Amino acid sequence: MNTKQLDNKYIAHAYGRADLELCKAQGSFVYDNEGREYIDLGSGIAVNIFGGCDEKWQKAVCDQACSIQHASNYYYTKPQSVLAQMLCERTGMKKVFFGNSGAEANECAIKAARKYSFDKYGEGRSTIITLRQSFHGRTVTTLTATGQDSLHNFFMPFTPGFEYVEPGDIKAIDDAIAKGGCCAVMMELIQGEGGVNPLDKEYAAYVVEAAKANDILVIIDEVQSGNGRTGMLYSFMNYGILPDIFTTAKGLGGGLPIGVCVFGEKVENVLTPGTHGSTFGGNPVVCAGAVSIFERIDDRLMDEVAAKGNLIKEMLRGAKNVESVTGMGLMIGIKTTKDAHEIMDKCRERGVLVLTAKDRVRLLPALNIPAELLTKAVGIVKEVIEE
Ligand SMILES: *Cc1c(COP(=O)(O)O)cnc(C)c1O
Repeated sequence: MNTKQLDNKYIAHAYGRADLELCKAQGSFVYDNEGREYIDLGSGIAVNIFGGCDEKWQKAVCDQACSIQHASNYYYTKPQSVLAQMLCERTGMKKVFFGNSGAEANECAIKAARKYSFDKYGEGRSTIITLRQSFHGRTVTTLTATGQDSLHNFFMPFTPGFEYVEPGDIKAIDDAIAKGGCCAVMMELIQGEGGVNPLDKEYAAYVVEAAKANDILVIIDEVQSGNGRTGMLYSFMNYGILPDIFTTAKGLGGGLPIGVCVFGEKVENVLTPGTHGSTFGGNPVVCAGAVSIFERIDDRLMDEVAAKGNLIKEMLRGAKNVESVTGMGLMIGIKTTKDAHEIMDKCRERGVLVLTAKDRVRLLPALNIPAELLTKAVGIVKEVIEE
């Protein structure tokens, strides 16, 4: 049997896969099993932020794999500590907890927020407010946190203690806080899976202020928007917000699984021995790779990301069949009068890989994609949208 037949027979059908087997990646190009070349405008899903086979990352990962590939969290390992230091020093945060995915990072944030409140106020103050159209993960609890009714099916009972508000609705957040019993508000500043919807800056500032006035923790989900994607190291820096907790994952590992929950001053000592853990969390190979990624997300790269984001917007705004282009930096949503999946399929036929989010076409290219290549690929996307 070939790969596709084996997959169909032996892998649970949780994904609607495109008819494409990928075998190799180099920079922003990927190649299928027949050697056909594609320009990748998705980088996995915002994961390969320096593209395929990035040499510095490869070397960091290979060197670490050849010295010690895993140690339990009963011992110290250097890549983990170095990455933690970098994450804290560049964000003003105090401590981190390493897991393996975005969902785990958010689980950790939810546990920490509830424990912060429990330690200080006792039981009954455990509600977490999240936004409609948000996405926070696929575990039962992070799926509950996800503010999409369509995903709240089959797996009942869902975790109690979540309340949803419409993004942009100030009265709704006031009402939710006024009910009492709330320990945290959790949000993406740019909703990725929800269609690349940036929150209004005044709204985000209002939520943060209202939360802080009530000792309600602010958790920002930077799983998709983080690690330079929006033209700043983290999207909260675009918003002038300092969260109590933020989470990140996807791009940080450069292609290997990592999830991090990052704690500010208020919560830095909430997790105590025995309250949380992960076998693989902070794996030295993954962290060594992440260090090589993180240290290259600098001001020069951020300026490039912002410029390339503007380039995409200039190319697509006003184009035929385009209703809006949303997002920041290289996190872009395109609303068209056409079916987003059809556009995705046609782009693939023409050698360009794009993503969708709800009814939008979504672009999450590698941060170092050459401007010329980006122009060529977005030109093809534009042609497909306009035809
Ligand atoms: C992808 C994503 C998650 C879930 O991450 P996994 O690594 O798939 O568990 C959570 N939050 C946001 C904003 C995401 O984009």
